[in-house]
Amino acid sequence: MSFRARVFGLVLLVAVIAIGATAWLTFKLATRQIDESQEKATQHVVDTADIVRSYARRHGTWAGVSVKVQALSEANHQRIRLVNLYGQVTVDSDHLAKRAARPVVSPPTLIDPRPTLTLPDNVDELPWPESVVRDAKVRSLTKAEAVTLDGIRKFRQTQLVARCLTERGIEPPAVTPNKLGIPIPATPPEASDCIQTIKPELAEDEGGDEAAVKVCRSEKVEHGCLVRVFGERVSAFAPEPLQLFLGAVDDDPAKLVGGPMAVAAGSVLVLALAGTAVVARHVSRPVRSLTAASRRLADGHLDTRVPLVGGGELGQLSTSFNRMAQAIEASEQAQRRLVASVAHELRTPLSNLLGYLEALQDGVVPPSRELFASLHDEAQLQRRILDDLQDLTLAEAGHLTYRRVDFDLAELVETARVAHLAVAEATGVRLRAEVAGPLLFHGDHDRLRQVLGNLVTNALRYTDAGGSVTLRAYVANGRPVLEVEDTGCGIAAADLPFVFHRFWRADPARDRATGGSGLGLTIARQIARDHGGEISVASEVGVGSTFRVTL
Ligand code: ADP
Repeated sequence: MSFRARVFGLVLLVAVIAIGATAWLTFKLATRQIDESQEKATQHVVDTADIVRSYARRHGTWAGVSVKVQALSEANHQRIRLVNLYGQVTVDSDHLAKRAARPVVSPPTLIDPRPTLTLPDNVDELPWPESVVRDAKVRSLTKAEAVTLDGIRKFRQTQLVARCLTERGIEPPAVTPNKLGIPIPATPPEASDCIQTIKPELAEDEGGDEAAVKVCRSEKVEHGCLVRVFGERVSAFAPEPLQLFLGAVDDDPAKLVGGPMAVAAGSVLVLALAGTAVVARHVSRPVRSLTAASRRLADGHLDTRVPLVGGGELGQLSTSFNRMAQAIEASEQAQRRLVASVAHELRTPLSNLLGYLEALQDGVVPPSRELFASLHDEAQLQRRILDDLQDLTLAEAGHLTYRRVDFDLAELVETARVAHLAVAEATGVRLRAEVAGPLLFHGDHDRLRQVLGNLVTNALRYTDAGGSVTLRAYVANGRPVLEVEDTGCGIAAADLPFVFHRFWRADPARDRATGGSGLGLTIARQIARDHGGEISVASEVGVGSTFRVTL
């Protein structure tokens, strides 16, 4: 995948994850908050209803509940309204506070202060209630009837005492439901004349209670009937059921969403930052590795390479870097080899020269015309090597100047033949030229003559007397070709790949002696290439060689 596509993909991934996470977190937090607030609201209604119900049970009356309701409303910042089953308002906190009535939001909750009798299945195992045991009139009751009757009496007494105390401004004791579900005081009420006050009222209903519980004897489900009778009897004196309406709780909406949203935003920000950091690290890793490799290369570690990181732009960059490092290393090695070769090439003739000069100086060797001629040849070879080297360096750097003109290649071949005729005749080699006719070409006449001259010199040098050297100029595949064919010693197949290398000679000792610099073919190949062409060789040992310059 390309670098750009990868960066795009990774950034997109981070963005999608961040957006997804935001949406998910917001949804989750909002849902949870709604659930929590609903749960809280429900619990709040239940709690409020409990408080109001407990008031009625403890005080035996709704009188005085307004103080409780007002305090509760102020504490909760909420309207509380109690209405009886006929629609009459018992108390409304907003009316009490003389403020504009706020709307009620929840459906009404029934507050029934009347207890429900819970008769256990094993009612016969319960002890006989004392009030019934003392009462001779009701001895004929069953255990269940006796327990129910006792419950009605106890509850009535509790309620009447509590109501009496409330009327006198005394706080009645708190009540808790006993085993049968009837609220009775946890502690005895404060001493007052209320017990006496309520006696006649208590006695009034006793006969009715007894008759009512006995009705259940004929009923199939006696317990169910007794529970119903209990409910009917206590309704006569318990405070009436009311409906509770609640207004909205004044909540700060900013507080509702602010906290969770800040948490969500913070989490997503952290997530996005972490994701971006990972992406940045991932993306910049190959770049960092390339930077480090460049530094190492600049410090002279030419064998530095970077690992290939996939395809795309970064992969191409790594490949280019490695290729560049390889080229620099190869060039450095070539340069070192060249300097070593040059030193090697110049050392032998210079040693020779020095040796003879010292011998002449010491008078060991007598000076002679032949000796001076030989020393002159040696010095000339060195100059030729340096000249050739300079030519080659210029040519390889692309700085060799070419003066291109239109000229006839056939004529060039003929000129070269004539120039080398004397040498050919002296060595007993037949030198021929085969040209079909004028062959016009645009290029540097002198440089191509240098190439041809080098090839002919070589051919004559490696062909023994009786052999022949043929020069040709022709067109093949629409391209002009210069060819030099000899019937000389030929070049071993194993040596052919090195023929055009610098300073390469098949037989260094012999070839040096014949005055070859070992650079002729290298220069010839460079000149051919600079003319858009190539030079090739076909050779067989003992048969001969053919050098072909395709232009
Ligand atoms: P030099 O100037 O020493 O001849 P070249 O680069 O021209 O250098 O040739 C390189 C080597 O190639 C020679 O030393 C010789 O061994 C071999 N060579 C070149 N031409 C021929 C040929 N026609 N026949 C046989 N060997 C040849």
